[in-house]
Amino acid sequence: MTSELCKSLQASGIRFVRFTWCDNANVIRAKAAHIGVLEENLEHGIGITASLQAFPVMFDMVIPESGLTPTGEVWLMPDLPTLDILPYAPSHARVMGDIFQNGEPWPLCPRYFLKRAIAEAKKEGLEVMAAFENEFYLLKPSSEGIVPADDTVYASTLGMDLNWPVIDAIADALLDQNIVVERYYPESAPGQHEISIRYSSALEAADRQIIFRETVRGVALQKGLRASFLPKILANAAGNGCHLHLSLWQEGQNIVAFPKVPGELSQTARAFIGGIIQHLPALMALTTPSSNSYRRIRPHFWSGAFRAWGFDNREGAVRVPSNPTAPSPTHFELKTSDASANPYLALGAVIAAGLDGVRRNLDPGDPVAIDPGNIPEEERKAQGIDPLPNNLGDAIAQLRQDKVLLDALGPELAQAYLAVRSAEWEAMKDMELEEEVKLLLERY
Ligand code: GLU
Ligand code: MG
Repeated sequence: MTSELCKSLQASGIRFVRFTWCDNANVIRAKAAHIGVLEENLEHGIGITASLQAFPVMFDMVIPESGLTPTGEVWLMPDLPTLDILPYAPSHARVMGDIFQNGEPWPLCPRYFLKRAIAEAKKEGLEVMAAFENEFYLLKPSSEGIVPADDTVYASTLGMDLNWPVIDAIADALLDQNIVVERYYPESAPGQHEISIRYSSALEAADRQIIFRETVRGVALQKGLRASFLPKILANAAGNGCHLHLSLWQEGQNIVAFPKVPGELSQTARAFIGGIIQHLPALMALTTPSSNSYRRIRPHFWSGAFRAWGFDNREGAVRVPSNPTAPSPTHFELKTSDASANPYLALGAVIAAGLDGVRRNLDPGDPVAIDPGNIPEEERKAQGIDPLPNNLGDAIAQLRQDKVLLDALGPELAQAYLAVRSAEWEAMKDMELEEEVKLLLERY
């Protein structure tokens, strides 16, 4: 079978196949096999050093506290159904790599972590569907450095007219990779855009997040532009969210809505949201895991700055959108999430938190119907709306205490992840925005 595949790739003009993975710092990496040796690499995988999962975002160096050292080999095994030709680099193909050690899934492989979370959900009879909703900046090189490619406002048709060639090319490239494109509009900040895509099963959603980021960047480069998903690029303009949309299914049926009361959540969905709200301070070390993330999360910026949920409320951490006709609601959205997160780790951790809610039947509290940023602080406290961590260091400290999330990650992954993100926090905690943006703009 693999020899047939190699022949057909060769006939399509493929020279390299990128065995792709995403590390603990959320850098997307790949090792590419040349078509001439592809067959053996498809069968046996491509070796990488285990210590790659100990690199922080700043530089390629092993963080000693990670528990990993430059000794020890792990293997990128191709997940063949994910293989696709890259529309923005058509002599290359991509395949998602599952990381194995000694012939077994490696406990530190982020994709394996998500698979474990999905299996846990299945034990509760649940299937989680998801979509990452990305915002990104299109930027252009100029004499003043890399600057936003336009200066338009939310849903501006001028923004559309200025950018349609690159936006259409991104949409076409996503469709070529079997990703259904839903809506597009220029977002609020200069150069900022949003393209939403159709939901899918959780594993596919995380894979699509990798494909989406790669495709937006690759197409932008072809058009002489740069793209960045960094959460906060300009101090006084909207940041880039990457809201995580979720729905819960049982035997092929969406079970988010309460069957008897239109507009209400089912008990399972309430408890799942209860789990997310309960674990959110710790979860943030995985869903908003960059020092830069905390510049974005601010009241009145629609970025999920409050530990609260509500129907159609764009300021709470969890928004439950209502539908104009039944069934409603059919999904919910975590806004305290951005694209500096490794999507496998973020989504797996959100599922673990939600499942804890389901198992313990956690109550998310009353829905908040107004902007929590407009409630005086004392009153907010009285209503149980706690502030969320306002820096990465605090979120990491919360994760270190969260037994449910640590158990879900498992000791080795937890150690490596915490070491990487702690090293990033130490390196960047005193940086000014400009310096941080310079370092991170093209990493994410
Ligand atoms: N840019 C906002 C954020 O940082 C989101 C705006 C919206 O709701 O689409 O999350
Ligand atoms: Mg948006």
